[in-house]
Amino acid sequence: MRTEYTPSVADTGHWFPLDELLGKFEPEHHPEFVRLPAPYAVRADLYLRREACEAFIRMAQAAQEEGITLKVLSATRSFTHQKGIWERKWKERARAYPDTVRRAQSILEYSAMPGASRHHWGTDVDLNSLKNEDFEVGGSHERVYVWLRQNAYCFGFCQPYTPLGADRSKGYREEKWHWSYLPLAALMLRQYADQITDSALTGFAGAKTAATLKVVQNYVVAVDVECR
Ligand SMILES: [Zn+2]
Repeated sequence: MRTEYTPSVADTGHWFPLDELLGKFEPEHHPEFVRLPAPYAVRADLYLRREACEAFIRMAQAAQEEGITLKVLSATRSFTHQKGIWERKWKERARAYPDTVRRAQSILEYSAMPGASRHHWGTDVDLNSLKNEDFEVGGSHERVYVWLRQNAYCFGFCQPYTPLGADRSKGYREEKWHWSYLPLAALMLRQYADQITDSALTGFAGAKTAATLKVVQNYVVAVDVECR
């Protein structure tokens, strides 16, 4: 099944405030955010930007017609939320990685620094499982991944974190569960890259490593070419 997405905000050249790019807002109190309806989300408090939410629902309904269930495990996360995830790992790994740069690098395999997560943008979702092997041959979500690879682009979604290799040489490891609504996210990525430097990533444990690791260039911008 093929359905074309209809970009709206993206076409208007909408300008996103820096605080929104950095996750410094509460999605539940933001007029452009809506709650994901129950059948599509594992929890009641998952939010997306309205346009991304509508596109996701269209995609989930099309998938369901083919017997594929898409469930959102995580959607918009604020700076504060991401700071909680980051600082928990920062503490847990202190002994294994006494060197702070190496510790940050190890966390950055799968988790973004607060202020540098695509989950701040209201355009990105984690679907069904947080294990790559579940989406691979013989895994419980193998058909889900095959369907997404074949159809997600028709609804405006792409997989930003494809395998590291010739096509994507740096950044986070592959995440088969993480999908992004490109008509908005591409615009936000451009505005982020133009305006936000590593020195803007402050206010959490280990923030000083952002400059050494060139987080904006080596992680935020280092997405699959189809997600740019
Ligand atoms: Zn994710």
